[in-house]
Amino acid sequence: MARKSERVGRGKCPMCGDRVTFHRTAGGALNYECEADDCGHSAYAHRGSACERDWLASIERAAAPAPVPAVEPMTPEKANAIGQEYDKHQARLGKTRPALLIG
Ligand SMILES: [Zn+2]
Repeated sequence: MARKSERVGRGKCPMCGDRVTFHRTAGGALNYECEADDCGHSAYAHRGSACERDWLASIERAAAPAPVPAVEPMTPEKANAIGQEYDKHQARLGKTRPALLIG
């Protein structure tokens, strides 16, 4: 009988801390198989067990989106600086293509 398991997510190997993929088996257990050469550990955790909770927690941490750096609010000074940069850029373009500026 073929065992169907569903990919749950990437987390930390409880043995070596390497990245492993956790799967949910058809029977409801959580399992992983470490691919690290010096580890190769694999294990099952029954649904509702403390072990399962730990593993799921490690998955959630790993899957959490990277913190997005706070966007600094635009200030008139900054807008002005950007505008000046833009003008400089335009001026450079104008210098290299004077023909376009003449009537
Ligand atoms: Zn491992």
